[in-house]
Amino acid sequence: MESTCPSCQLLVSQGRPHPHLHTLSTLKDSQLFKCRCCNSYLHRDQSGWEVLSAGHYQDEAPTATGGRALKTA
Ligand SMILES: [Zn+2]
Repeated sequence: MESTCPSCQLLVSQGRPHPHLHTLSTLKDSQLFKCRCCNSYLHRDQSGWEVLSAGHYQDEAPTATGGRALKTA
């Protein structure tokens, strides 16, 4: 399933850039970015931000941090 990360969703809805953006190309009136968090491609021009191609975003890898304690009753 394709999805964007919360940072990209904020970016599109509120025009707020985030640190995961990687600039792919800069033209006179538009820029192309890729998000390193969710691998989405984003485009910015005078009218604002849009998602060109949604990537894949996972909340958290379940095994990586083990933040949630499981109850084994
Ligand atoms: Zn993203």
